[in-house]
This record gives sequence, structure tokens and C-alpha cells, in this order.
Amino acid sequence: MLRGGKLLVLTGPAGVGKGTVEVALRKKHPEVWVSVSATTRDPRPGEVNGVNYWFLSEEEFADKEKAGEFLETALVHGLAHYGTLLQPLVDHMSVGTPTILEIDLQGARRVKEKAAELGLEVVTVFIAPPSFDELVRRLTNRGTETEEQRKRRLETAHVELAAEHEFDVTIVNDDVNRAADQLWDIIAKEYGKEA
Ligand code: 5GP
Repeated sequence: MLRGGKLLVLTGPAGVGKGTVEVALRKKHPEVWVSVSATTRDPRPGEVNGVNYWFLSEEEFADKEKAGEFLETALVHGLAHYGTLLQPLVDHMSVGTPTILEIDLQGARRVKEKAAELGLEVVTVFIAPPSFDELVRRLTNRGTETEEQRKRRLETAHVELAAEHEFDVTIVNDDVNRAADQLWDIIAKEYGKEA
């Protein structure tokens, strides 16, 4: 049951360090659950199926979409499909687990639209870079992407940065631990936990 559930939706441009902030948060507060999305993109070195993502073929993804297994889906960077699986979300939220979705801008908008229909309370959090130059530097240093992929990600980043005002809260990721603490403060407030 999602009714009455609270959901934290985390969005921010590629390279902003959302993943690192989540890891820092979960280290301090392992009771937080971060939803594992499905994607049709290839795994990056070190990524594990079922941990970072469920890596699916286009066909598998389309079948799940048809079967209504997603809360939302999006084509990200015009390159690959991503989607939030509904059942694990229901399982965690039904027992009151603080739940985070780390999804793109389109996904965040869709979840917000669907929230009322599903009886979900959603808090949207935008993770922002200290500056655009810093974001470019982080993306360039990642080194796991082709020039074309980097270009796409920067284009998407421009669009996402311009949408910051749509979010309930902005956290600037200039220090990972501080950003993680700020995220926890939001969870603590929403779930009535100790800050
Ligand atoms: P990456 O390929 O770098 O892991 O993720 C690319 C983008 O896809 C990120 O902005 C990430 O937030 C977004 N993303 C990951 N999972 C989902 C999902 O389930 N739904 C949507 N809409 N976006 C997602």
C-alpha cells in the first residue's frame, strides 16, 4: 500500500554526486532504503545487477512497462530507458521504511503528478553542484564515458539546473557529509525521527 506513504524524490544533474551522497547517508542511517531502478543502459565497470540497477534488455523493459510494473519510466539523455519498479517500493513503504527515489527530472515530475492519485506524500529534493564549472569538471573527470555521452549529459544538466525551482528543497553538494546530513534532516522531519 502506498496510501499515506512518504517518498523522497532526489534529482540532480549527472556528475553532481547524488550516488555518493546516498552512500554517505546510508552509512550513517542504514534504515533508509534507496529504490533500485531498472535501466536498459549497459553496466559501468563495478556496477552490480540488483545493487546499482536492474539491467534489462529493451525487450524486458518494454514487457515490464506493459505489465504495469513501473511507477514511472523515462528515456534519459535520449539514450536509455529507466524506470522505478512499483512492487519493491510498496513493500518498503508499507512497513514505514524511509524511501528514496533517485530519478531524473522527468521522473520527478511524473511522480509528483501521480502522487495525489496514489495517495503518496512526496518531498522533492534537488541536489545542486557548487557551480556549473564544478559540474563540468566532475563529469570530465569521471572518465567512464565517451565524448558523445558526456555531451548528452551536459545538455541534460543544463535543462535540469534550470528546473531547480520546481523542487521543494535544494541541497548544494559542496561537501558530501554535509549534504548527507541535510538529507537526513529532511527524512527525520518527514518521518518524525531523531535528527
Ligand atoms: P546514470 O545512467 O548516470 O546512472 O543515471 C542517469 C540518470 O537517470 C540520472 O539522472 C538518474 O537520476 C536517472 N534515473 C535513474 N533511475 C531512474 C528511474 O528509475 N527513473 C527515472 N526517471 N530516472 C532515473
